Formats: sequence, structure tokens, C-alpha cells
Amino acid sequence: MFKKVTIVGLGLIGSSMARGIKEQGLAETLVAADRDQDVCDKVTELSIADEVTSNLEEGVKESDLIILAVPVGAIEDVGKAIGPFLKPNSIVTDTGSVKQSVVDSLQPFLPDSVHLVPAHPIAGTEFSGPEAGFSELFHGRWAILTPLPETSIKAVEKITALWEALGSTIEIMGPKHHDLVLGITSHLPHLIAYTIVGTATDLEDDVKSEVLKFSASGFRDFTRIAASDPTMWRDVFLHNRVAVLDVLQRFTEDLTALQKAIRRGDGDYLYKVFDETRDMRKQIIEMGQAEYAAAPGMADASPAGTPPVVAPHKGSASSG
Ligand code: NAP
Repeated sequence: MFKKVTIVGLGLIGSSMARGIKEQGLAETLVAADRDQDVCDKVTELSIADEVTSNLEEGVKESDLIILAVPVGAIEDVGKAIGPFLKPNSIVTDTGSVKQSVVDSLQPFLPDSVHLVPAHPIAGTEFSGPEAGFSELFHGRWAILTPLPETSIKAVEKITALWEALGSTIEIMGPKHHDLVLGITSHLPHLIAYTIVGTATDLEDDVKSEVLKFSASGFRDFTRIAASDPTMWRDVFLHNRVAVLDVLQRFTEDLTALQKAIRRGDGDYLYKVFDETRDMRKQIIEMGQAEYAAAPGMADASPAGTPPVVAPHKGSASSG
């Protein structure tokens, strides 16, 4: 499919893509480039790329496809560093959980002859690093592409074929729309999980030990989500500020209304809200997404119309 592919950033997502690309024979040469020498050594040991380098500029030279799988906050620096070394007509794509800021940070540094096709696999686990990756991560999941109106159709088709070969189903949307949708389905649930677990962390020691003991009553799922990589999630909230603040405002208003109903003993209001929310669950089951709706933060992790995928034991399905 491609002569030379370079993946920059060999964490969970980059190393999972490397494994999938190797297994499916999608590149004649696969280069792994990561600034971290320890990560490079690990990738060499795992044999998931043909060439490994900590020199990003060297790594992208002569590549037909460059995949940026670094935290959203690192995209601009990486774009600045590799821009002058990109081959004319090559394609740059990424895996970032936020899309508009990726477009804004990358575009100024890419030569006109290079095609940018931003992407976001709706797949992940709470684990990080090259050891955490596995090629089945993307099987039966959505990959959202957010090309710009002027993006070459051929380049979009190539990235579509790449994700399909990795096992995903493609959805195309605008970057701003992506950020709003993911703001509610993924970013807000993660923020809630971080808050609940943070609140529990501040409890007195004796109460805290009871929280751990009885965590299976709901809290446990939040701890899994809240164990997600802090760098990645810091960057998500800083780079999807507008959409997250918008959904957070709506959420706060709804929470305040529930708080008021509890204080006033307004059972009718509580019943009405809880009854309406059951309907959302029903719709998720009808769309074949129930496997993933079982835990917070996972509602966006399984494509509608595709069979539910049982998450491998290498990590629980959750996604940025
Ligand atoms: P990760 O496991 O933390 O790996 C990121 C890798 O990129 C690390 O090896 C990191 O090295 C390297 N890196 C960071 N800054 C760099 C730079 N300036 N130059 C070169 N390498 C750099 O992260 P991940 O979970 O794979 O996520 C990668 C991207 O995919 C993020 O944009 C994230 O939003 C997106 N994504 C994640 C998930 C998920 O569930 N994890 C799901 C969908 C999309 P250091 O260790 O030195 O920092």
C-alpha cells in the first residue's frame, strides 16, 4: 500500500499501528521515530518496525506516509521539526483526540505539496507506551477522518484504506464537529471520572479503605478511566477548551437541577430524568454498542452497525 511509512510517537496508538501495519504488510519499510531513546530501544526489542530512530528529521525523510501519534500538545513542535524534511506529495496524518487544534498547529509548517489528512481512532486503553500496543486495538472500531475541503481526495482514500486494513470503519466529519461530539462522548466522561476519583482520594483514610473495598458498586469503572495517561488528557482539555467548556456548562446546569430536586425532595423530577436517560441506554443497545456503554467514557468506542468487539485482555476498551 505504501513504500515507506514513518510513525512518530511509539506509545499505545503508534505501536498498535506499527504492529497492524507490519502484520498486514501495508508498508515496504516501516520507520519508528520517537524522541525517547528508551522507547526506541523497546521498539527495537519488540521488532515492530524495520528502522528505529530518535532523530525525527532523519526518520521522515523519503517517507510517503507520516503518522503523528504523539500527544496533541506535541503536534506543533513535531510539525515544525519535520516540515522541511517532508517529501513532496507525501501524506501527513495523525491520531490526536482533538482535531481543530491539530489542523491549526500543523498546517503552517507543512509544505504546499504535502497532503494533511487528520484522523482519530476511537479506540484505546488506559495503558501507555510501546509494550501496551496490540494490532487488534482498532478492529471493529470507528476511525474518524477530518480532511479539509481542499484536501486531495486521493490522499483521503489512501488514509481510508489504511484504517480499513487495520480493521476500522471510517466516518468523515469536520474538525470542529468532531471536537464537539467527542467533547460529550469521551472528554466529559473522562473529566467526571478524574473528579470522582479525585474526590475519593481526599476522603479520610477509614472512609477511603471502604471505598476501595466496595468499589465494584460503580466506582471501579471510574478508577479505570481516571488511570488514563495524564499528559494525553491534559493536552485534550487544553486543546478542546471551547467544546469541553460548553458541554461542561450544560452538565453543571443539569447537575444543579438534580441537586435542587434532591434537596426539595422532588421525587417526580428525579423519576422523570432517570426515566428519560434509560431511553438513551435502549438506543445504545439497539445500535449494537451495549458492550461499551457498560462503563463511563466508553460510549463512543464501538461503531454502530458493526458487531460488538470483546476487548482483548491487554487492556479495557476506553478511548481518547
Ligand atoms: P503515549 O502512549 O503516551 O505515547 C506517546 C508517545 O509519543 C510517547 O512515546 C512519547 O514520548 C512520544 N512523544 C511525545 N512528545 C513527542 C515529541 N515531541 N516528539 C516525538 N515523540 C514524542 O500516547 P498514546 O496513548 O499512544 O496517544 C498518542 C495520540 O493518540 C495522542 O494524540 C492521543 O490523543 C491519541 N489517542 C489516544 C488514545 C488512547 O486511548 N490512548 C485513543 C485515541 C487517540 P515520551 O514518553 O518521551 O513523552
